[in-house]
Amino acid sequence: MNKIVLIFVLSILGISSCNNEKALSQVMDSNKEIKKPEQEKTKELSFATVDYVMGKFQPKDDEAFVTIPIRYADREGMYLRKEVLDAFVKMYDAAKEDGVHLVIRSATRNFEYQKGIWERKWTGQTILSDGTNVAKDIPLAKAKALKILEYSSMPGSSRHHWGTDIDFNSFENSWFETGEGLILFNWLEKHAADYGFCRPYCAKGDLRQSGYNEEKWHWSYMPLSKPLTRFAERRLKNEMIKGFKGDEVTEEIDVVGNYVLGIHPECK
Ligand SMILES: [Zn+2]
Repeated sequence: MNKIVLIFVLSILGISSCNNEKALSQVMDSNKEIKKPEQEKTKELSFATVDYVMGKFQPKDDEAFVTIPIRYADREGMYLRKEVLDAFVKMYDAAKEDGVHLVIRSATRNFEYQKGIWERKWTGQTILSDGTNVAKDIPLAKAKALKILEYSSMPGSSRHHWGTDIDFNSFENSWFETGEGLILFNWLEKHAADYGFCRPYCAKGDLRQSGYNEEKWHWSYMPLSKPLTRFAERRLKNEMIKGFKGDEVTEEIDVVGNYVLGIHPECK
């Protein structure tokens, strides 16, 4: 099949919804992928444990983590792994040269922090962005969880636990679709991979069939998040994701299979 025919076929299949030439080249290069050296696929990170990927630690007490200087963020007191902050700063400087101002809105969130977000939504203390009060409007536990899971992770299953993931500028997809937000988004789509970042929650389609809704703000530092994803795939089990309101439905929903692994293949 020649390239033009392949592009046509892929666009019919909706693969272009997950963006772009990279996705296409990944499909075209799938044979190359298989030939990767074995050690690269199986390489383990020394700090990867089940407790780590579940966010069961305090970033402030872990010397691999650093606080994010306020000039890069919208508030004090957020953390990233040091190598992730270093890569981000290089990207920030390059973006700034091009007139694009990246602002970190959220970074590392541990299990306890995520539990707070999740349970405030579960109990109706936080109203969802579409106006839903989960506690009042949705009676059944599974349906409640699936509604919150449109945009929020269950505690123990978030990539934000890992110190490798960052939310930029706005939590509204629409912000990234016009004006300054669109310029920033296009800049990231074009350049973020050069600094090691990919966007796991692209639009759902053939490349990503399950998981959270699209998040144009969420980016992962691949050199660490890829091995952590593979670790989670092997070691994290639904029955471990417990200790918060609604945790009785984790197995039924298959949180690991559908959400932890429901990411753009480029980020795996
Ligand atoms: Zn995020």
